[in-house]
Amino acid sequence: MPRESQRARRERAAEIARRLGSEHPGSATDLCALRHDGPFQLLVATILSAQCTDERVNMVTPAVFARYPTAADLAAADPAELEEMIRSTGFFRAKTSHLLGMAQALDARFDGGFPPAMADLVSLPGVGRKTANVVRSVALGQPGLAVDTHVTRLSRRLGLTKATDPERIEADLCALLPESEWGALSLRLILHGRQVCSARKPRCSECHLSDVCPSAGIDVLASRASKPGKTSSPTRDRQPSARSRAKKTSS
Ligand code: SF4
Repeated sequence: MPRESQRARRERAAEIARRLGSEHPGSATDLCALRHDGPFQLLVATILSAQCTDERVNMVTPAVFARYPTAADLAAADPAELEEMIRSTGFFRAKTSHLLGMAQALDARFDGGFPPAMADLVSLPGVGRKTANVVRSVALGQPGLAVDTHVTRLSRRLGLTKATDPERIEADLCALLPESEWGALSLRLILHGRQVCSARKPRCSECHLSDVCPSAGIDVLASRASKPGKTSSPTRDRQPSARSRAKKTSS
């Protein structure tokens, strides 16, 4: 792809956001699949969603929310009982520790209230920028662009960033679009990543972003790579390697 000015990239990002918005309409709150009532419940659900499907989390959370309706209730939970309740979400010991630490900090430092500021949220045990951005954008109406593995993969394939560090990716994406779009864009990229642009089998021929995506066609490369004797990664850049360029030049 030829070098792109920041202005051109902004225009392309706006078009990508517009098309994703048509594909997945609604606000960040509408698009969030984790069932919750208020920021505290969403924070609990988001911590539980690490390495787990939203469907599984939604099966577990009703009992957790009923048993521990407030931060003070969760802060005083019996760890063994909580572990059993969330066992099916995986990594249940670490998640129990994070939930208890988070609830104890909320109860002790914020008097059971809920702090909207990023700095306060990421100071809670088990809460990183990704989780904080989910809660801010979905439950608090604040700007927030959560970067997970799907957002990382898609924003790189779409040529919206070259970064690999989530914080840098977040900054690059936020610089391209107005803050009112950040939360929904993150969730739309996740949905598009799950449904069309998966890590192993991107379906570029069916993707309505293909004419604005510099990686369009990697699905063909991926299927070639999956044939016997081919070992290329489906996510590899389409540029020929330095070695193959050297071979071509010398032949
Ligand atoms: S064109 Fe292909 S690589 Fe680009 S977003 Fe669509 S599926 Fe992903």
